Amino acid sequence: MKGTERAKWKEERLAQMLAKLKGRDFRLTPQRLAILTILAGSEEHPTVDEIYTEVRNKFPTTSIATVYKTIALLKELNEVLELGFPDGSNRYDGNRPYPHPHVICMKCRKILDPEIASVDQLSEEMKNKTGYTISSHRLDFFGLCPECQHNS
Ligand code: ZN
Ligand code: MN
Repeated sequence: MKGTERAKWKEERLAQMLAKLKGRDFRLTPQRLAILTILAGSEEHPTVDEIYTEVRNKFPTTSIATVYKTIALLKELNEVLELGFPDGSNRYDGNRPYPHPHVICMKCRKILDPEIASVDQLSEEMKNKTGYTISSHRLDFFGLCPECQHNS
């Protein structure tokens, strides 16, 4: 995606979240809007702590419970993807809430969203091999990013 397309997509994602939240028991405070904006716009897969720190820059009285609650509601609405890790350092992707492959650096923990063309084919193959209907997938690749390869 180009810069302008990316900016448009971030706006679109925020609009989609707000549309889904309409009619739910959700009071849109400036703090909550800031949390939604971070999640809709970030391609970095932030942790709860990172989101909390960023929101507090603007709204110092925000509680971490507000961050957790907002994310829980978005999860319920399928508007954020949770990447769970065994050490509990979960990361969140509200920019692309649908299943997609990730590549994860085990050293600096940078996570990217590469566009991999063969994923659809893989789903199809899984369906054909097993007879299951496939509604979702989790596909994580682990390794070292280029920077960490050079600095090790
Ligand atoms: Zn790295
Ligand atoms: Mn992602």
